Amino acid sequence: MARWQDRSEDELEESVTVLKGAGPRTAEQLHDMGIITIQDLIEHFPFRYEDHAIRPLKEVSHDEKVTVQGTVHSMPELRYFGKKKSRLTVRALVDGFLVQAIFFNQPYLKKQIQPGDHIIFSGKLDKNRMIMSGGTVKPRNIERDNELEPVYSVKGDIKVTMLRNLIEQAFNTFGERITEILPSQLLSAYKLTSRKEALYSLHFPHDIMAFKQAKRRMIYEELLLFQLKMQLFRKKEKEGEKGQKKQFVLAKVEDFIRALPFSLTNAQEKVLHDIYADLQANTRMNRLLQGDVGSGKTVVAAIALYVNALSGFQGALMVPTEILAEQHTESLRHLFKDTELSIAHLSGSSKVKERRETLKKLASGEVDVIIGTHALIQESVIFHNLGLVITDEQHRFGVEQRRILRKKGVNPDVLFMTATPIPRTLAITAFGDMDVSTIDQMPKGRKPVKTHWARHDMLPRVLDFIKKETGKGHQAYVICPLIEESEQLDVQNAIDVHAQLSTALPTVSVGLMHGRLSHDEKENVMLAYTKNEIQILVSTTVVEVGVNVPNATVMVIYDADRFGLSQLHQLRGRVGRGTEQAHCILLADPKTEVGKERMGIMTETNDGFELSQQDLELRGPGDFFGVKQSGLPQFKVADLVEDYRVLETARQDAVKLVNSKAFWESADYQPLREMLKKQGAFSQTKID
Ligand code: ADP
Ligand code: MG
Repeated sequence: MARWQDRSEDELEESVTVLKGAGPRTAEQLHDMGIITIQDLIEHFPFRYEDHAIRPLKEVSHDEKVTVQGTVHSMPELRYFGKKKSRLTVRALVDGFLVQAIFFNQPYLKKQIQPGDHIIFSGKLDKNRMIMSGGTVKPRNIERDNELEPVYSVKGDIKVTMLRNLIEQAFNTFGERITEILPSQLLSAYKLTSRKEALYSLHFPHDIMAFKQAKRRMIYEELLLFQLKMQLFRKKEKEGEKGQKKQFVLAKVEDFIRALPFSLTNAQEKVLHDIYADLQANTRMNRLLQGDVGSGKTVVAAIALYVNALSGFQGALMVPTEILAEQHTESLRHLFKDTELSIAHLSGSSKVKERRETLKKLASGEVDVIIGTHALIQESVIFHNLGLVITDEQHRFGVEQRRILRKKGVNPDVLFMTATPIPRTLAITAFGDMDVSTIDQMPKGRKPVKTHWARHDMLPRVLDFIKKETGKGHQAYVICPLIEESEQLDVQNAIDVHAQLSTALPTVSVGLMHGRLSHDEKENVMLAYTKNEIQILVSTTVVEVGVNVPNATVMVIYDADRFGLSQLHQLRGRVGRGTEQAHCILLADPKTEVGKERMGIMTETNDGFELSQQDLELRGPGDFFGVKQSGLPQFKVADLVEDYRVLETARQDAVKLVNSKAFWESADYQPLREMLKKQGAFSQTKID
C-alpha cells in the first residue's frame, strides 16, 4: 500500500505483467516488441485502420472492402462443406441494388437474420456480379462496433486480440493516471483533445472524427516535443559556446559589393543581413544557407569571408571535390583581386613544398582565406585565428567532419551552404538546431532550362542539336551512364562516349573528364573548358556539384533514369547560368514506373524545392540523403511528408516557448517540462 502512495499519479511505468494474461512468457514476447511498461503498451499504436464506415454502394469500386447497410430480401441459405466449413448466402437490398452477401463459416447467422431485417454488413464487393463476401454482418438495431478497426503489428506468439485485450485492461486500470502534458493555452488555441482521450481514441476510435482528432492531437504533441528538444539543445549550445564578436566597417563591405560585375538579388541581400547579424553577435553562427542551383551562393560566401577578414579573422571554405576547390579558388581570387586579402588553396594533391608553405602561412596568419577539400581538416592544418568556416554542398560532408573543422578555431562561426534543395520539412527536422536562410530567387535575366526527354535511339538528333549550339559559340556537357558498382566502368563509359563523339563531331573539340585523371590533368581540362577551348565536355558525375561555366547551354545525360531527381537537378544546374536559353536532354529508356515518373517530373518542373519534395515522396525520408547518415528521427504518429504543416507550427511554437517566461516558470507548463526532462531534453549533448 505504501508503495502505491509513493508513486506520483501519472506514473505509467508499471510493468505489463500486472495485467491479466501477461505471464512471463507473454511479457518476454512483448519485450521483443519494445513493450515493457504500461506506458509502452499504451503507446504501441495501430499502424493502420480498416474503415468500416457505411458507404453508399454507388461510390464503392470493384473489389473494394467496404461496409454497407440494407434490408434482408431472402431467407438465408446455409450449406456445409465437410464438418466445419460452411457458406451462408443471403440477398439484401442495398441502396436500390440487390446484393448477394456470402458469409463463410458463420452458420449461426442463419438464426439471426430474417427477411425484412435491417442489417449492416461488410465484405469485398464484386461489382460485376454484385456479390459481397468475406465479411461479417450485424443487425442494425444493435449498437455497432467502432467504424475503424485498428490493425496492430505483432511479433511471435502475440496475437492481435490478446494485444487489444491487454491495451483495454491497461486503459481500464491505469487510464486515470494518464495526465495532460500540454498547457491549456495550446490546447485551447488548437482545440486539441485531451491526452487521455486522444490515446484512447487511437486504440478504440468511436468514429472517424474521433480518430482524426486523436491523431491530430498526438501528431502535434510528438512534433512539438521533438522541436522543443531541438530548440532547447540549440539554446544550450548558444549559451554554452560564446562566439567571437566581429567588428567591421560596413561601408567597406558595401564598396566591395558595388564593385561586383552585377548587383545582388534581394534574396542574396536578405541572406547577407542574416549573416552580418550572426557575425556581429557574441554567439556562434550556426546557419544553413539553402539556395537552388545557380542562385548565387558563392558570392554570398565570398562576402561573408570578406567581412570576416575585415574583422581580423581567417576564414575557410571547404568543398567536396577538387574540381570545385580549384574553381572556387579561381573565382575568389578574381573577386578579391582589388582587396588586400591573401587567398590560399589546399587539396589532397597539393605538392609537398607548396603545401608546407601554405601551412606555414596559415599558422602565422598570413593567409586570410583558405579554400580546399577535406584536406583542410587534417591534423597538420593549424590556423592562426580561424573565425569563419563555410562548407559548400554541405550534405556531402559527414557531421563529424564538420565538427572537426569547427574545432580548429575557438568557436568559429559556421555557415553550411547547400544546393541540394532540402524539403523544408527535412531541413527543419534534420537541421532543426540551425538557423536557416534561403535564397529563393534567381539572378535577373535567367531563362529556365528547357528539359527534354529522348530515347537513346534519338542520339543522332541530339548530336545535331549539340552541333548547332556549339556552332553558335556555346558549350555542352555530356554526362555518361552511371554504374554505381564500379568506378572503372564509369570511366570506361566516359572514354567510349568521348571516342564516339569525337568521331561524330570532328570539327568540335571534345574533352574528357573523370575521376581517374590526375590532379593536373583535371585542372587542365577544366581550365580549357572554362576558356571555351573545349566545346563539349564528356564527363562522369564528377562535375555534378558546383561547377560554373556560364557559357555552357546544353546538358546531355545518358541513362538519366538511373539518377535520383535531386542529382539530375544538380546536373541540370550546370547549365542555364548565363543569359542564353539552355537545354537539358535526358537520354533514357526507363524500364520501371518510377524511372518514367522521374523523367516526367524533370521535364515538368525546374523548381528544386518542388523537385526535392517529390523526390521525398517517391523515395521516403530515409532515402532522401542517400546514405543512412540522414540522422532523421523515427516518429510514432507523425509523418514528415504528410504533416509538414504541423511541423512548421510546432517549430514556431517551440521557438516561442523556450524564449518565454511561462515555459520555464508557469505551473501550467510543469507537466510538459517533466516530460521533456524524462526524455533527457535538458541534459542532452546531442540530438538523436
Ligand atoms: P550556386 O548557388 O549554384 O553556387 P553560383 O554561386 O555558382 O551558384 O552562381 C551562379 C552564377 O551566377 C555565377 O556565374 C555567378 O557569378 C552568377 N551570379 C551570382 N549572383 C548574381 C547576381 N546577383 N546577378 C547576376 N549573376 C549572378
Ligand atoms: Mg555553388
